[in-house]
Order: sequence, then C-alpha cells, then structure tokens
Amino acid sequence: MTFTLGVHESVEVVFSPESFPDVLDVPEESAVETRIVAHDDATALDDLDAIVTFAYDEAFLDADLEWIHSIQTGVDRFPFSDLEAAGVALTSSTGIHGDAVGDTVAGYMLSFARGLHVYRDAQVDGRWDRTPPAPPFSLAGERLCLVGLGVLGRGIAARAAGLGMDVVGVRRTPTPVANVDEVYGRDRLAEAIGGARFVALALPLTPESEGLIGPAELDAMREDAYLINVARGPVVDEEALIEAVSNGTIAGAALDVFETEPLPETSPLWDLQNVILTPHVAAAHREYAARVAAIVGESLRRRERGEELANRVV
Ligand code: NDP
Repeated sequence: MTFTLGVHESVEVVFSPESFPDVLDVPEESAVETRIVAHDDATALDDLDAIVTFAYDEAFLDADLEWIHSIQTGVDRFPFSDLEAAGVALTSSTGIHGDAVGDTVAGYMLSFARGLHVYRDAQVDGRWDRTPPAPPFSLAGERLCLVGLGVLGRGIAARAAGLGMDVVGVRRTPTPVANVDEVYGRDRLAEAIGGARFVALALPLTPESEGLIGPAELDAMREDAYLINVARGPVVDEEALIEAVSNGTIAGAALDVFETEPLPETSPLWDLQNVILTPHVAAAHREYAARVAAIVGESLRRRERGEELANRVV
C-alpha cells in the first residue's frame, strides 16, 4: 500500500518544499508518494499518512496522521500530550546540526576576540577606525563553558578545542564528553559559568530550562564574559540580559534565538554594539534538506521493518 508523505509549505523558511522529494532516498518498492501541502490547506491533510514540517498546525491533530516529522531539532512548540492522546508520533531532526552550529559559535567567539563585528560596522559607515571595541585577545587558553553537551554542544566543543580553548560543560548526567575537560551537573551551573570567558547555551527549551539564565546567573558570570545563545530564546531572561550587557555586568552577547521571533523592531538589542544578532540561522546549511531527508528515509525504512522511527520524541 502506498504511504503518503506530506511536505508542509512551512519548511520554506529553511529549504524549498519542492526540493525535498528529490533528496528523499527510499527504495522504489517502498511505494512512498510525496505531496506538497499548502499553508492552511486542512483538507489536503486528510489524505496523508505523515507530514514533514517546520510549523505546528492544530489541524494536524484532526487529520488522521500517523506521524509528524519536525525539520528542527527543538520540538518545544509541539503539544506533546495532545499528540500522545491522539496517537500521533513526533520525530525531530536532532543529529544534523553539530557542524553548522559549531562553526557559527566559533565565528561569534572569533568576532568578539578580534573585534571583527565592530570593524565591519565601521566599513559599512566608510570609517577607518582602528580602535578595538575591547582589548583584543586570542581564543587559545580562554575558557568556554557549554550548557548542554548533546549534538550541538559536542560540535561546538570540537571546534573550541581545535582553537586551543579550555572547554568545560554542564549536562544533566555529568559523565565525560570528548573535547570537554570538565563536565558539571546541573546543580553546579553557577560554578561552571563563573570561570568562563564564553558561556554558550546549547540545550533544549523545557520547563526546567526556561529562564535558566536570569539575573543571578548573569551576576555569576565574569565582567569580561560573553553569553552565546543558540538554544531557544526563553532559556534566557532577555530583559535581564539587556540590562547586564548595558550596565557592564557582562561584556556582550551573541544571540541566534529570541523570546519573540522575528525580533521586534523596538527591541533594545538591535542597538547594543557589543551584541551580535543572527536571525535564527546558526544551523543553516545548503545540505539541510538532504540531511533531514536522510532521517526521514531512515524512519520510513525502520517503519517497514516494524521498528521504532528515528529520533522519536512522542
Ligand atoms: P541534544 O538532545 O543532542 O542535547 C541536549 C543537551 O542538553 C544534552 O547534553 C542534555 O543533557 C542537556 N540538557 C537538557 N536539559 C538540560 C538542563 N535542564 N540543564 C542542563 N543541561 C540540559 O540536543 P541538540 O544538541 O541537538 O540541540 C539542543 C537544542 O538546541 C535543541 O533542542 C534546539 O532547541 C536548539 N537548536 C537550535 C538551533 C539553531 O538553529 N539555533 C539548531 C539546532 C538546535 P544530557 O547530555 O545529560 O542528556
């Protein structure tokens, strides 16, 4: 029997929906048919067995879907208990972003160390200004503390270790991780971030991690430290961060994710010189669609063998 897989148009924020069937590699005998599903076309959902999507639409619950695949790693906006009650499986795209996000975070750290972001601003204004934004330094020997040591954390750690940095990290289960010199448990967060020049957040948004970095944690950081958030906006108390950067409690921040996305025009973050903002693109990669397709293809093969889907969350 044919298995009908929808590709929701919302994936277009990351890759072209039309490109997905071309990179989905499943054996011909599997009889998988793919269809592009337009935004708000609830009737198209009725003919599907599964959907690959960026957005969550409540209409997914009313359709008779067997399975939803999120093209993101973070699945915090999907209603786990409703899906479970409706018997709909949810899978994520964890596993594919370690290199892209690792490179992005290395880029942020290099910019802060060498003042590149500020020289680029001067270039845009046509100004020859050699004044560094802060005393320039080299990353070698500086400490990075990674909060979250999964796929992203490990990708970042590998690059930081290559740059000669001293890498420590925090995870729920404080067992050793490659390229990380010391691993702390969640209860030692303040101690772990306290000694670091860079604190990079790479953990999921959950009820436990929401607001994890607030005034007390920012106070625990060094005055010359930078906060990097590639996790999810609500992991950080944004107002407290704006205050900490504005009054010099910390040296600056690099943010890829925000409490509200797109970042509102009125946010003071736009105007802070020692803040680097990127519009949730830390994981962008020209192979993104192919990498998601590899996970979905693996799930389709597993399903045929009667096995569990890959990266199943619900
Ligand atoms: P993983 O599941 O591979 O790793 C998560 C890590 O976070 C694990 O080390 C886990 O600990 C740790 N962790 C979970 N909860 C806590 C907590 N409360 N306190 C401390 N550590 C915790 O996920 P990924 O690395 O693939 O992704 C992490 C998150 O990053 C995603 O959920 C997503 O929200 C975000 N993300 C953002 C992207 C972007 O474009 N900016 C791209 C991809 C992901 P343990 O090892 O003990 O289980």
